[in-house]
Amino acid sequence: MLPRFRARGGEARRGKDINHKISKRIVAEAERTGRGIALEELTGIRERARLRKPRRTTFHSWAFAQPGSFIVYKAKKAGVPVICIDPAYTSQECSQCHRTARANRPAQARFACKACGFIDHADDNSAHNISRRGG
Ligand SMILES: [Zn+2]
Repeated sequence: MLPRFRARGGEARRGKDINHKISKRIVAEAERTGRGIALEELTGIRERARLRKPRRTTFHSWAFAQPGSFIVYKAKKAGVPVICIDPAYTSQECSQCHRTARANRPAQARFACKACGFIDHADDNSAHNISRRGG
C-alpha cells in the first residue's frame, strides 16, 4: 500500500515548516530506495519533472494540499523522478482494462470494474495505475 500524507486547508498556516521537513524526508527516502514520487494534483500543481530514463520505477504517492512545489524542488535537486497524477482518475481507472468510470468505485475501499469485472482493493488498484504511469 502507498503511504499517504494529507493536510487540511486549516492547518496550512503552521504547516509550512512541517511541510519542508516532510518533503525533505520523503525525497531522502525516495532517493535512498531508488524510487520516484507521485504527486496527486489536489491543488492544481502544474510543475512536472520528467523522468530521466524510461525505466520501471516504484512511486510513492503523496497527496498534500499546499507543498507540492517543495517536493518537486527538493526531488529535482536530488535527481528523484516526480510525476503528477489526477487522484480521481487513478482511483476510478481499472488497472487491468484501463476503463475509467466513477461507478468502478462502489465504496471507499473497494474497486470493481464495470467493464471487465476486475475486483481489487481500491488502494491496490490505484497503486498499479500509479506505478504504470511512472514506468
Ligand atoms: Zn476493467
